[in-house]
Amino acid sequence: MNNAKLNKDITIVGAGLVGSLMSIYLGQRGYKVTVFEKLPDIRKEKIPAGRSINLALANRGIRPLQQVGMMDKVEKLLIPMKGRMLHDIEGNLQFQSYGQKPEEVIYSVSRAGLVSLLRDEAETTGNVTFHFKHKVEDINFNHNQIVVNAWETDQNKTHEFDILLGTDGAGSKVRRLMETSGFGDFSSELLEHNYKELTIPAGRNNAHLIEKEALHIWPRGGYMLIALPNLEGDFTVTLFMPKTGEVSFEQLQDKASVATFFKTQFKDAYDLIPNLTDLYFENPTGILGTVRSKNWYHENALIFGDAAHAVVPFHGQGMNCGFEDCAELNSILNRYQDDWQQVMPVFEKARIDNANAIADMALENYVEMRDVVRDSKFHLKKAIAFELEKQFPKQFIPRYSMVMFHHIPYAMAQSRGEVQANILQQLSADIESLDQVNWPLAQQLVTKLEPISAEYLP
Ligand SMILES: Cc1cc2nc3c(=O)[nH]c(=O)nc-3n(C[C@H](O)[C@H](O)[C@H](O)COP(=O)(O)OP(=O)(O)OC[C@H]3O[C@@H](n4cnc5c(N)ncnc54)[C@H](O)[C@@H]3O)c2cc1C
Repeated sequence: MNNAKLNKDITIVGAGLVGSLMSIYLGQRGYKVTVFEKLPDIRKEKIPAGRSINLALANRGIRPLQQVGMMDKVEKLLIPMKGRMLHDIEGNLQFQSYGQKPEEVIYSVSRAGLVSLLRDEAETTGNVTFHFKHKVEDINFNHNQIVVNAWETDQNKTHEFDILLGTDGAGSKVRRLMETSGFGDFSSELLEHNYKELTIPAGRNNAHLIEKEALHIWPRGGYMLIALPNLEGDFTVTLFMPKTGEVSFEQLQDKASVATFFKTQFKDAYDLIPNLTDLYFENPTGILGTVRSKNWYHENALIFGDAAHAVVPFHGQGMNCGFEDCAELNSILNRYQDDWQQVMPVFEKARIDNANAIADMALENYVEMRDVVRDSKFHLKKAIAFELEKQFPKQFIPRYSMVMFHHIPYAMAQSRGEVQANILQQLSADIESLDQVNWPLAQQLVTKLEPISAEYLP
């Protein structure tokens, strides 16, 4: 590697999950990396973890962590979730497996734990310097300068960069400054639903009070409650619900209405959350939305992660997609020998359609999680899909599996998924069980599908 090419100051705005991981890749390449993060360092000060206390980590997020050599440490933070545990209104449970191979699981991981490990790892490269409590306020794209406010002293400093990476999340200042400077083309669309986090505490000796290795869902049609396990024995519980309307956050204005709502809709969860109504009013209500950007770079500045493509959380892919961005950027740096002027347009082209595809699939998955999972036809289609995958492994992989367990580009998973949905619709119409499937027709339909390229198959 030509060292002159690495002799650049790379400045990263935002030390969240994506900025912290990218700083490791770049530190390991040999760049000097400066990272500005507006919040205090969660490793040193107790601050709220931010948007969600835990997250689902899947294959796409794991591979980059393996590439930077961190999986041994990350593994200690993981709880496998093998499928969805559905809770009906009477409290009856039904388990739906996510995949059909032992390795087809996703993992619950603490956001604070993961981001702390990433920052530790970045510092061990010896090339990455974090500046916490430093908020980027302004950017001069033509002169490669940013204005940073150090909020302890309330002083503004000007910092010069060679390359600026904006990984400052869904409300990205870098993205908004690109737009106000006339270089960006972005849209952001808020979901009509908000969310609220609660906790099912651990039992005695840190026991999990409901099945540990599952993602729990209480699907209720227009809204839902979910719960993901934590290592300490508790579960982070999230209510997703419309902002306004008949059953909505707007309707839950006092403790009595919250208690009645949970008692009637989620009785088994209600019984496990002793301080539910206090928590409900102590915890903030979060907003959700989708950001789509047509331009991810301008001059020497590039955005990615949520800054370029925030998605709603219903496919559990926002972080995973952001981690995949980091791996892709690193591999394009390899291909173009760190020539950033070539790298940025190639990276944007490689990622933009995929980011839009996962944004669409994440929105669709909300309806699946809160409603469709209750439908017996859904279970039949899932069973047929698993059987088709067994019989035609090169041609048919269920869409959920393509997104969660493989590295098939999101846009390809989306387009193949549409064709597969039509096949499943045809095969499941007018039947009630797997043994009634017209298998000769199934073979005829599936063998028409283009085989998936070997590079994406295990
Ligand atoms: C309820 C919920 C559940 C989710 N569940 C999952 C899941 O299960 N799986 C999954 O893969 N994804 C999930 N996500 C999505 C995931 O949280 C995001 O995709 C991920 O956090 C994106 O990482 P990021 O680093 O791009 O942005 P962020 O994590 O938002 O980090 C951005 C950082 O930039 C900092 N910053 C912002 N502005 C400035 C500034 N001006 N100057 C300096 N610093 C700044 C912020 O303080 C923050 O630390 C979920 C999201 C939500 C809301």
